[in-house]
Amino acid sequence: MGQKDGFLLYKRALPKNQPAEERIKHSQEFSTEFNEKKINEQAARCMDCGVPFCHSGCPLGNFIPEFNDAVYQKDWKLAYQILSSTNNFPEFTGRICPAPCEGSCVLGLNNDPVSIENIEKTIVERAFVNGWIKPTVVAHRTGKKVAVVGSGPAGMATADQLNKAGHQVTVFEKSDEVGGLLRYGIPDFKLSKDVVVRRVKLMEHEGVVFKTSIEIGKDISIGTLEAEYDAVVLTIGSTVPRDLPIKGRSLKGVYPAMDFLTQHNRRVSKKYIGSKEEIWVEGKNVVVIGGGDTGSDCIGTSNRQKANKITQIELLNKPGTTRGTQNPWPEWPMVLKTSTSHEEGCNREWAILTKAFLGDGKGNLRAIETVHIDWELTKANGGTLVEIEGTEEEIPCNFVFLAMGFVHPFTQYLAEEAGLELDARGNIKAESYQTKNEKIFVAGDARRGQSLVVWAISEGREAAKKVDEFLVERTGSVLASKDKAYIHTA
Ligand SMILES: Cc1cc2nc3c(=O)[nH]c(=O)nc-3n(C[C@H](O)[C@H](O)[C@H](O)COP(=O)(O)OP(=O)(O)OC[C@H]3O[C@@H](n4cnc5c(N)ncnc54)[C@H](O)[C@@H]3O)c2cc1C
Ligand code: SF4
Repeated sequence: MGQKDGFLLYKRALPKNQPAEERIKHSQEFSTEFNEKKINEQAARCMDCGVPFCHSGCPLGNFIPEFNDAVYQKDWKLAYQILSSTNNFPEFTGRICPAPCEGSCVLGLNNDPVSIENIEKTIVERAFVNGWIKPTVVAHRTGKKVAVVGSGPAGMATADQLNKAGHQVTVFEKSDEVGGLLRYGIPDFKLSKDVVVRRVKLMEHEGVVFKTSIEIGKDISIGTLEAEYDAVVLTIGSTVPRDLPIKGRSLKGVYPAMDFLTQHNRRVSKKYIGSKEEIWVEGKNVVVIGGGDTGSDCIGTSNRQKANKITQIELLNKPGTTRGTQNPWPEWPMVLKTSTSHEEGCNREWAILTKAFLGDGKGNLRAIETVHIDWELTKANGGTLVEIEGTEEEIPCNFVFLAMGFVHPFTQYLAEEAGLELDARGNIKAESYQTKNEKIFVAGDARRGQSLVVWAISEGREAAKKVDEFLVERTGSVLASKDKAYIHTA
């Protein structure tokens, strides 16, 4: 442990972001970096607790006190070795992870938690700047071939791990670019696409083959993959959006959030935005239905397109600013979150149910009809929504973005042909990552349902371990042992 009283001396701090009024003029990242002294102070706040709860808070089990100490000691190379021993892509999580580790940081019991996520980002970016992240030549090839279907963080982590274990990995992606939601879902202002491309190039140099614009199940059958590869891993994400099939749903102006976000992502990358009609909200009134990350990204994107007014509505009650008694530390804090997109400007309302989309008589959206929900009475009523009489209102708007999450993966072609089972929610069933077809494995949102990037990476790593064990005839995975060592040996 570095400085034993660091947590008493220094307050939690994060580098300043570019001011909201400046950053909404562009679609690029807007955070700045701390200098050496400031980041050392932040690392010095880590108490190196006897039981570091942050380990279990992080789905990857990152060795957080260890890398904090290395940063405090100014041994950035060691810090990177420690970090990369459990996390294949800290440059993604260091930018967009909601940091459940910070929710379980012991300091957070009566103080502000250590700024783990920002320290993580600083470590990995310094490692890139200093040239410590180079393609490593895989020493031994096993002769086994693995196909990974889907190139989001789960597919990338699976591919990275299996390649490091010596298998020849080919990743098939239906989109024209690699990265899954990192590429065409999450906006550039949260995660620059250069950051994704930088990692993909590294993986290519290390021997992973990426094949884009190929949809497995349509362009190539899953049966063909099974015949040509020793194992197949499905990391196809959870892409079927939750819809709101109420009156007026077909009006012009009501869109799934991803239609809006993907178009803007492509526009920022100067790519063809696709054949669907263009969605551009300049000067218009926007309503975002759904209070999660996707909704937040719609707000940030609408502000960058100069929307006139943005309203975000959420069905659930407004969370409190501190933990409730039912949500004790070290659980993930269910408290009000204000994202950088919220800071840029929007009106937020809670406990609101959308009853209908209202048209202007010419097929265009003009408003939504809403009512407030009484959640106390709803609970007492066994979960059946209780509307509060007299709270009916119309919110005038030209655009509505449906950001209510995703229900399950799109499995129409794949699951049927490969004879895979789905669970009750429509995700692909694979309790230990292996499906009932022993050659086919599943990881990421396709298996666990809509989740987080850090979980996708974790799932990819775990699935890779199972595939490796399967391929090396159950003599034990080389990945299993590496996983526990924090000195990177690849
Ligand atoms: C708008 C938005 C914002 C988000 N923001 C955050 C955030 O800030 N922080 C966070 O942690 N998480 C965030 N998430 C969640 C996170 O992005 C996902 O949990 C994560 O990307 C899941 O990774 P995955 O690899 O399982 O799937 P995905 O990233 O969805 O990747 C699946 C890939 O498979 C491809 N594919 C599907 N079917 C086929 C097929 N048949 N053949 C070939 N390819 C196929 C898809 O094109 C896609 O590229 C966000 C999600 C959305 C939608
Ligand atoms: S990956 Fe996320 S949860 Fe894990 S240490 Fe980094 S910020 Fe925390």
